[in-house]
Amino acid sequence: METGAHFNFACRIKRADGELRWVEFFGNRQPHVNGGPMRIIGTVADITASKNREEELRCLAANLSEADRRKTEFLATLAHELRNPLAPIRHGLQLLRMQTENVDTFNQVRDMLDRQVNQMVHLVNDLLDIARITNGKVELRKQHARVGDLVKMAVETSLPLISSLAHRLIVAVPDEVIHVYVDPGRVSQVISNLLNNAAKYTPKGGVIEVNVTRDGHDVVIAVTDNGIGIAPESIDAIFGLFRQVGHDFERSQGGLGIGLSLVRQLVELHGGTASATSAGKGAGSTFTVRLGLAGDVPAPAPLEPSVTEALAARKLKIMVADDNVDAAEILSLLLEVFGHVTAVVHNGHAALNLARDFLPDVALLDIGMPGMNGYEVAKALRQIPPLANMTLVALTGWGGEQDRALSREAGFDRHLIKPVDMQVIDSLLADVIAARQSG
Ligand code: ADP
Repeated sequence: METGAHFNFACRIKRADGELRWVEFFGNRQPHVNGGPMRIIGTVADITASKNREEELRCLAANLSEADRRKTEFLATLAHELRNPLAPIRHGLQLLRMQTENVDTFNQVRDMLDRQVNQMVHLVNDLLDIARITNGKVELRKQHARVGDLVKMAVETSLPLISSLAHRLIVAVPDEVIHVYVDPGRVSQVISNLLNNAAKYTPKGGVIEVNVTRDGHDVVIAVTDNGIGIAPESIDAIFGLFRQVGHDFERSQGGLGIGLSLVRQLVELHGGTASATSAGKGAGSTFTVRLGLAGDVPAPAPLEPSVTEALAARKLKIMVADDNVDAAEILSLLLEVFGHVTAVVHNGHAALNLARDFLPDVALLDIGMPGMNGYEVAKALRQIPPLANMTLVALTGWGGEQDRALSREAGFDRHLIKPVDMQVIDSLLADVIAARQSG
């Protein structure tokens, strides 16, 4: 007032009805002819809405920076977790180089390599799954399955880790057959994630139990350990993405903090629930998955006994095309161990040329290859009449619906995601042999 300058301020006011509003004043004083203040001209505006928006933005920024911090921490953990298996793998290879004759060393190193590579595959698959779920791209391939079989599959996956830590595993599945209508791979992945956690978060020589029970229209699968337990205040948080409780890098069994988030999301996609209980630190934990029974969905007719074994004697000519030379060579070596005849190439043009003379029964094509990619090779191969019966298999890191559609369009019969388990390739080849026999 004294200086006569423009003024501007915001403040909260309490209206007569008691409501708090934000208002902003703009104004200036008009001086009287003899110098004193005469009047004030200005505006008073209700800015409650924009103040609220400002507050929302502030919260959003705070959340983003928290998410950013968690992501940075996650990347550090990821680097650490990916590097972890590399040291033993490298040492194992050195040992193999030095002790070529020693069968015990060889077996020990082989088992170790198997475990470490599995751990890396598991990690990378979890990462891809989280990305797919976040983008709403997970497709469940539901079918009738027996809970006992799903538990068995999971136990097979997790057993190497469980036994390497000298835990005792007790599995209790009821005698009655319990059917669920689920994606078997996904549900056994859920159980196996819980088993791996039970193994990781239990000091060596612990006891891990899997209990399957029927509860009305649900089946309840509980994984219990007598490990480090969970503090009550952390129980809700552990199912969040990138959430780890008291992670310490010294205990190298750690993970990425995505396993349980994956468990809960996959179970919820199936219409079920996943929860945890623990009597507290050091008191062990129980993780419970509840799924609806198959109910009225009709069960398919039992499958004919597989012709696979009877036909195992028949072998195939297989072309492997991959620009990763090591990947191609190893796959071809494995296929030859299974008795097939193979030919290997490392780019698209070479694949096309070779196929004309070699006339393979099956072509395993990498998609990302220099010069001519797998889709282009597939399209060109489909134009060659003598190759009309060839089975075309895409081997790729990309498994989204769009990628599958592209490979169908290019003429591929199957679409496999790397790294492919040899059993998957083997059963695919058995199918090819069976189809050829019956055709
Ligand atoms: P990760 O194991 O990769 O850290 P998860 O999402 O699988 O990630 O688990 C999140 C956290 O939950 C773990 O870091 C751990 O603190 C806690 N947790 C999971 N399973 C168990 C368990 N069986 N016993 C004790 N704590 C567990």
